[in-house]
Amino acid sequence: MSKPLKILFTSAEVVPFAKTGGLADVAGALPKALEELGHDVRVAMPRYGRIDIEKFQLQKAIEHLKVPMNHFAETVSIYEGKLGKNVPVYMVDSPNYFNREGIYGYQDDGERFVLFCRATIEMLKTLNWQPDIIHCNDWHTAIIPNWMATIYKDDPFFANTATVYTIHNLAYQGVFGYRILEIAGIDEHGFVYPQISELANVVDLMGRGILFADVVNTVSETYAKEIRTAEYGEKLDPLLRDRADSLFGIVNGVDYEEQNPATDKFIAKNYDLDSLDAKLENKLALQKESNLPQDPDVPLIGMISRLTNQKGFDILGQCVDHLLDLHSVQFVLLGTGDQHYHEMFGNLVRQYPQQAAVFLTFNAALAQKIYAGSDMFLMPSKFEPCGLGQLIAMRYGSVPIVRATGGLADTVEDVNPARGYGTGFAFKPYDRWALFSAIVRALETYKYKSIWRQIQERGIKADFGWATSARKYVGAYERALEIRKGRVGELSAPA
Ligand code: ADP
Repeated sequence: MSKPLKILFTSAEVVPFAKTGGLADVAGALPKALEELGHDVRVAMPRYGRIDIEKFQLQKAIEHLKVPMNHFAETVSIYEGKLGKNVPVYMVDSPNYFNREGIYGYQDDGERFVLFCRATIEMLKTLNWQPDIIHCNDWHTAIIPNWMATIYKDDPFFANTATVYTIHNLAYQGVFGYRILEIAGIDEHGFVYPQISELANVVDLMGRGILFADVVNTVSETYAKEIRTAEYGEKLDPLLRDRADSLFGIVNGVDYEEQNPATDKFIAKNYDLDSLDAKLENKLALQKESNLPQDPDVPLIGMISRLTNQKGFDILGQCVDHLLDLHSVQFVLLGTGDQHYHEMFGNLVRQYPQQAAVFLTFNAALAQKIYAGSDMFLMPSKFEPCGLGQLIAMRYGSVPIVRATGGLADTVEDVNPARGYGTGFAFKPYDRWALFSAIVRALETYKYKSIWRQIQERGIKADFGWATSARKYVGAYERALEIRKGRVGELSAPA
């Protein structure tokens, strides 16, 4: 093994402490995989009010830490807990900023996450722990590479610290006004995008992470290419093209300990590759819980998703009634998000009470029951940086139906029954007809039980654990250190 690294992993959400989406899954799994490779990994996140101190056995690690916030200072404390058995997690505790009902969606979100980041950096000095790498994720922690290139540039404590910035979703950039620069103490450096007119007068934190980090990556190879185009680049494509030599894709994995149908405590009946027939009990249980007729033969399509435009709900809305009219099929959705999709799916259930069930909430236990109980798992995303749903679904023997974009294109191989390969059903054009025909293809294939079984088995056997990707991250860290030292590495992605 290469030399063990000291890695600080910073994230706004981390499973099992706080989660709204895939970022939390990655933050809860990748550090453990890095630790298993022998690295000293520690995680930093906010201590949201809903994170129970007793349940997670958190201990006070630092009291009264003074955090500079430009013209004022905040006093925070740091709790320490554990991720898995061995990874320390530092939680920045500031009731003023983080003792709220939700994780995001507040007017002062910019200020909240700047405070979290600044406290994280200052905490390292008190702990006297000098990381080789600070791994930042999404806009919430994107200010850190900016600081490393400005206010901490000449700080000897960070002289050998490099930054890696991971884009989990380019659609959420954390765009704020000038005031956030004052709060972050970097107003004297001003706006930094004269080359991108839309961004010349706003502070785009994601953009700053991309601009200042030593290495940038995103969570699949296809998405890493897509975001260099105007279609997927969310206005940052010129910047991403500029950084093309240190921008690459590393596909996410799944925490195979957590996501395991053989041991999952939320599902009706445990099963694995050798006892796949037992999956049926989970389907019957899900049908019951969903108030749908308990029928082993009718194909059941599951969906677990944030209800946003990204996830393909507009094209689904244009064809789901035809699907339910024309085919004997059941549809179970778990999701929460935009109000108009809540209404759309509310209407769908009223129209098709025997075929459709929707749970408009966030429910981790029910999610597992849907992965285990569904025959097919739908992700018709308009864009998808990686997507974890399809990976978990395959692990549970639920066959994904996906739009071939981003990580979905990289992880789901389109079925070819004649040639005997493929793990799911993929379609390319983003329209209802392509979506509809992919679903029909899946429904037709489902009729051939032995072919269907082979597709399920290929999905279950596919390796989407974290070990391979964690090694690629180590390659990215090493490259970041080289770049930091002024020795720019090779242009290709690390193998
Ligand atoms: P994204 O990060 O864009 O939301 P991903 O597919 O990468 O999408 O990850 C979504 C994760 O969040 C999966 O683990 C999925 O099971 C989970 N999830 C999404 N919505 C819900 C919900 N309403 N209840 C429970 N889990 C959910």
